[in-house]
Amino acid sequence: MKISFYGGVNEVGGNKFLLAYRDTQVFLDFGKSFERENKFFDFPLLQPFYISDLKKIQAIPDLKGLYKDNPGASEVDGVLVTHPHVDHFGYISLLNGKIPVYLGEGAKAIIDIRSECYRAGWDRRLNHLSFETFRTGRDGEVGGVIYRPYSVDHSIPASYGFILHVGGKTVVYTGDLRLHGTQRNLTERFLRAIEEEDVDVMLCEGTNIVPERQNAFLRGFEREYTRRMGTVAPERVEKPCKAEEDVERELKRLVEDSEGLVLVETCPADIDRIRTIWKVAQSTGRKLILDSRQAYLAYELDARDASVEDLPCPKDSGVYLSRIRDRDGSNRGREARKKWRPKYQQNLIERCEQVYLGPEGRAEIRRHAGEYVLCTANAAQKLLELKEGPPFPCHFILSKSEPFNEEMVIAFDRLLHWLAAYGVKQYHEIHVSGHCWRSDLKTIIEKANPEVLVPVHTEHPELMARMAQQAVKEVRIPLFQGTTEI
Ligand SMILES: [Zn+2]
Repeated sequence: MKISFYGGVNEVGGNKFLLAYRDTQVFLDFGKSFERENKFFDFPLLQPFYISDLKKIQAIPDLKGLYKDNPGASEVDGVLVTHPHVDHFGYISLLNGKIPVYLGEGAKAIIDIRSECYRAGWDRRLNHLSFETFRTGRDGEVGGVIYRPYSVDHSIPASYGFILHVGGKTVVYTGDLRLHGTQRNLTERFLRAIEEEDVDVMLCEGTNIVPERQNAFLRGFEREYTRRMGTVAPERVEKPCKAEEDVERELKRLVEDSEGLVLVETCPADIDRIRTIWKVAQSTGRKLILDSRQAYLAYELDARDASVEDLPCPKDSGVYLSRIRDRDGSNRGREARKKWRPKYQQNLIERCEQVYLGPEGRAEIRRHAGEYVLCTANAAQKLLELKEGPPFPCHFILSKSEPFNEEMVIAFDRLLHWLAAYGVKQYHEIHVSGHCWRSDLKTIIEKANPEVLVPVHTEHPELMARMAQQAVKEVRIPLFQGTTEI
């Protein structure tokens, strides 16, 4: 059996691993490589136009019949997707429609719902693909590969790890997972299943395996920006958290102590965090307002019965709709109310009692700022839109990863300027990672006890190798576009 690595090597995300045994070839994930694309492209000025542009930068492998632009016979039998994060599935849109894509039922629902909220560019369309959905604990078969998916806890629902049997070997692929979220029992069940196997090879994520001074470079940026901003620069106050429950407790404390609007920035599809914020809003007597994409995701997951429990609904939360221009020439320059809004927003306007849009919606938030928690994936945009007249008190909470590359630091600096424009002196960081802590990862590797460990989805495979060397016979650090034989 051979495994070839076309991404997810020395990088966080972009996983694309090709498992090959005799006539069978199966991809484990087919993720978009943000890091590679950022190295070569600059959106929107310099961007890929054809599938071949992505081959030029080696973001995708150059294999015969793999893509829709040249869809002859393909030797690939299928793609198994662990979870609906773009860095794990984002390039499936490019695939030859004859190659089936296997994923969890909930994952399919999330991908569908989210794609309804974005304009379908050439590299986003999925309607030519055939999907097969799987369920936790149930065996499936692709070519000569028997796979068993297990639900795991991660920062998006419908995340899975796989146990695969191929050519008499047992392969474990963790996908992305953690043991400190609210669904940690799922990851524990996956671990118990792994313990019962004689694992030959384990592809294990190592996102949080980082050197201690990892952030020194970015902290340097932060210091420089703070220096340039001078005394108006908002100060970052971190509330360290180890588990999702800590996030809830710290958030609750802060919201209780806050006057004015509480503005929380999260990742767009971090449903667990949105749930936590919703609970905090309820227990502190505030109303949760979600931005339109987050609201649509939460409400639709419930409506489509995607087995994601305990979500905010239109009865107990509101929706904020951002400004959008009327496309009608006769009304040029005016803000659109309904007719010109994308379909998913029209749907929200129809089904929701509490919609905040237009000058009146924003005035209401300003007037009763202390009654709301506004949750969004784009806080700077909300600050821009809400700013009018005398400043109103606003408390900002960063509830996602800190910026981890230069582009993100620059964007974050803009957010800090917007906060300063509101007179915000201090903001809080309250977050836990979607990925295992280092110590949990060590436990997982020890329990799996594989013959061969392959560190993936990490910038520091050598650190992971050092950490795991006692627990496994062999650590094989994969090479980009390299192949390893088991
Ligand atoms: Zn992920």
